[in-house]
Amino acid sequence: MSAQPKVVDLRSDTVTQPTAAMRAAMAAAPVGDDVFGDDPTVNALQERLAQALGFESALFMPTGTQSNLCGILAHCGRGDEYIVGQLAHTYRFEGGGAAVLGSVQPQPLTQDAGGQMALADIAAAVKPDDCHFARTRLLCLENTWNGHPMPEEYLQQASSLARSKGLAVHLDGARLFNAAVASRQAGETATASAKRICSYFDSVSVCFSKGLGAPIGSMLCGSRELIARAHRIRKMVGGGMRQVGVLAAAVDYALDHHVERLADDHALAQRLAQGLQGIDGLTVRSAQTNIVFVDVADGRGADLLAHLKAHGVWATGLIGLRFVTHLDVDAADIDHTLACIRAFFTQAGASADGAVAHRASHGAAVY
Ligand SMILES: *Cc1c(COP(=O)(O)O)cnc(C)c1O
Repeated sequence: MSAQPKVVDLRSDTVTQPTAAMRAAMAAAPVGDDVFGDDPTVNALQERLAQALGFESALFMPTGTQSNLCGILAHCGRGDEYIVGQLAHTYRFEGGGAAVLGSVQPQPLTQDAGGQMALADIAAAVKPDDCHFARTRLLCLENTWNGHPMPEEYLQQASSLARSKGLAVHLDGARLFNAAVASRQAGETATASAKRICSYFDSVSVCFSKGLGAPIGSMLCGSRELIARAHRIRKMVGGGMRQVGVLAAAVDYALDHHVERLADDHALAQRLAQGLQGIDGLTVRSAQTNIVFVDVADGRGADLLAHLKAHGVWATGLIGLRFVTHLDVDAADIDHTLACIRAFFTQAGASADGAVAHRASHGAAVY
């Protein structure tokens, strides 16, 4: 049997395999029934992250979607609303969970290219105390957004605006540590930078199954009172888990070994973006942290995607393409990707007729 050719999987940073050392840490973890609060590895991880990010308490969750849901429902009750970006994960990509399961109304607002809602729009969206309206309770931000780290000044302004209106502020920080690495001050550790970002929020949800390379897991952080409410909601939505210390151990390992190295992923994304400069037929729309978005001319996006797939390079998107760097790709993989893309555009007879249907992608690239 010949060896499988290596696939360069740039679809998402969720595709990483747990490393041998991470698996060893998982195998060695002491565990207990976490619904009884008995799992020492989970308890230690919750304490560790709460303390590292400056919160009283934290709760381990299977997914970021459940973590955001429990966060929103811990802040908002039936008939309340949260203000959120039109394209934000917590509005558009979580099955409408807050509305479906919590009777919480989203108030989506337009975002700019960096994912920011205008402060004036936020202020105008807060409803007066009047029986016509849902009660506006919460502002949800997302950082990074499509790879963009939010400027600290915006976080500060948006959160103080929200608080001046009596709202709480939640961060969907699925890629918080990518934001932290990208926006840290000189000499600051990634964790200190993450804590600074978190200081503007009442609750933060962090994913470990993305750039940090754990197979599963997210954490909701907040005050003791908020996390106690979220704990009840997590049970209600089926997120009470048992000997889950094996998973918490993977996360603990990732926090020890995979945080600072996110800078390598960001450097690889830049290597890709720079290599794409000057290729006729595509433009780099955005290359921030570990995510590169590319616009392909003449409707050839799907053709390029198919060409890449045939050469062992996987990406997502149809019209615009998305490439995400992570733990399991290296510089040689990026150079191979660049060579394949160059070959596609120089290939004789490459059809430019865009036979491909212009299917609206509805943000297929959001995982
Ligand atoms: C991935 C992601 C989530 C949800 O995480 P899952 O673990 O896939 O449920 C939430 N928000 C953002 C911005 C994400 O990228």
